[in-house]
Amino acid sequence: MERKVRVRFAPSPTGPLHIGGMRTALYNYLFARQQGGDFLLRIEDTDQGRFVPGAEDYIIEALKWCNISPNEGIGFGDGPHAPYRQSARKIMYREYVDKLIESGNAYYAFDTAEELEALRKNAEANKSSFAYNANTRKSLINSITLTTEECEKKLKNGDHFVVRFKIPELGQVMLKDIVRGDVVVEVSSLDDKVLFKSDGMPTYHLANVVDDYLMQITHVIRGEEWLPSAPLHVLLYRSFGWEQVMPQFAHLPLLLKPDGNGKLSKRDGDRLGFPVFPLNWTDPFTGEVSSGYRERGYSPEAFANMIAVLGWHPTGEQELFSMDEMIKQFSLERVHKAGAKFDPEKTKWFNQQYLKKQTDIELAQSLSQYIEKQPKYSCIEESRKELVFLETVCKLMREKVHFVHEIFDMAPYFFFEPQSYDESVISKKWNDDAEKVIQTYLQSLQTETEVKSNRYEELFKATCADLNLKDGQFVQILRVCITGMSGGAALYDTMALLGNDIVIARLKFALNKLS
Ligand code: GLU
Repeated sequence: MERKVRVRFAPSPTGPLHIGGMRTALYNYLFARQQGGDFLLRIEDTDQGRFVPGAEDYIIEALKWCNISPNEGIGFGDGPHAPYRQSARKIMYREYVDKLIESGNAYYAFDTAEELEALRKNAEANKSSFAYNANTRKSLINSITLTTEECEKKLKNGDHFVVRFKIPELGQVMLKDIVRGDVVVEVSSLDDKVLFKSDGMPTYHLANVVDDYLMQITHVIRGEEWLPSAPLHVLLYRSFGWEQVMPQFAHLPLLLKPDGNGKLSKRDGDRLGFPVFPLNWTDPFTGEVSSGYRERGYSPEAFANMIAVLGWHPTGEQELFSMDEMIKQFSLERVHKAGAKFDPEKTKWFNQQYLKKQTDIELAQSLSQYIEKQPKYSCIEESRKELVFLETVCKLMREKVHFVHEIFDMAPYFFFEPQSYDESVISKKWNDDAEKVIQTYLQSLQTETEVKSNRYEELFKATCADLNLKDGQFVQILRVCITGMSGGAALYDTMALLGNDIVIARLKFALNKLS
């Protein structure tokens, strides 16, 4: 019988989720939705030493922001396989480790951390490396070398122990990876990984496989860094006798540095000035803040689209996909094998494309929310924070920005009076004629009985014509007087939005400063 597709995202709460992790979650979600399957979130927190407070909440918040919604799991309303946090499942794993010990596939090992460290050091000194494996296990302190009585005595004594998986001495492990094809590994290259510790906690490998089995996972879709663990996982399925229900594997390509080779890291983001996390993260131990895409002004739709096409692409040229389109078109077969170079500039392009799809009023709402959150903008005059005003600002600036908040950097003159004037224009174009034009224009504006919004241009042209001057030569000077800058939004529309009082005040101020 065909099994219902069930996939999982299984992060460890060891810090903020990297964009690579978000992509893994997204691919799982897309695949499940497309196949009419289930997608669950499981928190893998067996390594308590690496637990970071706040990380679990961060993961949940990041998934929610990005509209990646598991239908089972922590933060999304549990499901039939609760609990979904491995630390809360602790008592369940003992039974499985006991099965492996009974069947001879695992054994107790009593070597202390110091003893193993000494062996490692020794091997290093001899330019080799130490591994706990078929060669070495016979000369170490474990239930293979000890008698049953000795072993039981140690256990009764409460001696520190671990349970290790007994890798077979000969043979190969074969696995079919949907992305990478056939993967064949010689068992002799594997070591006897720890599965269980004396504090009653399983390690990642055991808990991960047992939970995938119990939660009826059909496809394991995860990052390439887990590929080296996959042969051990296959051997675990074999040892448990679960081969019939072993999930299919799909190991996703790495995200690579924008420049050079190697895996994309937080350091690359810091060095080149782009976030590698979906949301801002404050390190609970150091207080250090790492920036996130959300806080940088990215829309969740743009972010999801951007990460989806890092490593996957359907046929054709299309680059923009809504979530529904991605659900329809996604396929694991079209996930690339090679790592995907991360391009921070392209992320801005994605945001711009999504910004273009929004209406002026939607953009104005985002801008308004942004202003509210920024204490430095509390001084902006109330009328210039109103949605009708912001709507026109957005209309005038939308084609020029990647992010709505960029409007402040590119066009501060909508909100603040210019205090200085672009020197490159002034030095070239401010002369007696320019002064005369601005002076006369100012007078005309002041004496016009009725100044309609479309009069600014006509009046400027008429002013120049009366003075026998070409208006085209003075438009930039007018722009600088009004905005302080040499480029920006359509000038006469900007003036119309600011209104006559502000326009007159700015021209007076400019004349004062420049003459
Ligand atoms: N807990 C692992 C992680 O943090 C999960 C790996 C897997 O999906 O099997 O990425």
